[in-house]
Amino acid sequence: MMKTGWNFHELYLWHDTGAAAQFFPASLTVEPGEHAENAETKRRFRNLMEVSGLTEQLTSVKSVPVDEDDLALFHTRDYIRRVKRLSDDRGGDASYLTPFGRGSYEIACLAAGGTFALMDKVLSRELDNGYALVRPPGHHAESDKGMGFCLFGNVPVAILKNRKKHGFERVATVDWDVHHGNGTQAAFWTDPGVLTISLHQERLYPHDSGDREERGAGAGLGYNLNIPLPAGSGHGAYIAAFEQVVLPALRAYKPDLIVVPSGFDGSGADPLGRMMLHSDTYREMTRMLMEAATDLCGGRLVMSHEGGYSAAYVPYCGLAVLEQLSGIKTHIDDPFLPVFRNYAGQDLRPWQQDAISAAAELVAGIRA
Ligand SMILES: [Zn+2]
Repeated sequence: MMKTGWNFHELYLWHDTGAAAQFFPASLTVEPGEHAENAETKRRFRNLMEVSGLTEQLTSVKSVPVDEDDLALFHTRDYIRRVKRLSDDRGGDASYLTPFGRGSYEIACLAAGGTFALMDKVLSRELDNGYALVRPPGHHAESDKGMGFCLFGNVPVAILKNRKKHGFERVATVDWDVHHGNGTQAAFWTDPGVLTISLHQERLYPHDSGDREERGAGAGLGYNLNIPLPAGSGHGAYIAAFEQVVLPALRAYKPDLIVVPSGFDGSGADPLGRMMLHSDTYREMTRMLMEAATDLCGGRLVMSHEGGYSAAYVPYCGLAVLEQLSGIKTHIDDPFLPVFRNYAGQDLRPWQQDAISAAAELVAGIRA
């Protein structure tokens, strides 16, 4: 049985994204409602974990907030201080469509710290693997600005701080959030020590990034791998992308640790994405990454929560991942699974295979 870590903090839910409709802030033309990135998806994920009995069988990892110097491993001091100033006052926007309230700076430091602490324990061999259910998310944040509901790059900051502490050579990130992991890509653009892989719906968000041609630069050339998939892709396309691109890339790179920026907005229930995944897809992708991690890096696998906007469905995708990571099957079955699994088009389609084949050609440039 695996020793699996679990990070959560109540304050993650207190990060306030304000009144909005989907992702547009309330105004004279947008009636105030709930922001898509609100606490509910995360709260219900945490709650289902409790009800399933799984939480108590995992090792709880305490969040220790990162500080300004830690954030500055990735972010500019100007940006960090601007967020802090606004957060101390009444909140604001981290650049565009990234609203936050009073105290969100401290909460974001806690989220990056939760990801750091979990990764630290996996690297120290206290844990085999684990999941940090953090908020706000991080994979869109760039060095000098927040983007797409993300204030600070939780995964980049955690990797850079842990690299200082543990001195490992190679980390691979596999971002299965439905949106492009532009922030993680930018953080390690010229760094061959981090292979950044992102599977995402083609040109969803950001609209102008995530193409296969973005491969890194300088010493990092070849160590950024984008796998944009057509809208409507389902279980078959993602499993094929893993088998034909992600796993061969990991085997070529031989990382010391695998990190997953984990969003569940690729599900068939998500209001922001147009993919069709279900809990069995996330379970199977987790199984494949665990197998790769066992072969390549002593099983070391860390996940940090990103997007996922269906309050009803995110919890079942999350539970499937945690069941797989821990090797513990709970009594909870995903009630939606028979519905989503039977959507037409779940099998791999020719135009999806074309996109996967094109991405697979990029693997040849990756070396350990
Ligand atoms: Zn997303």
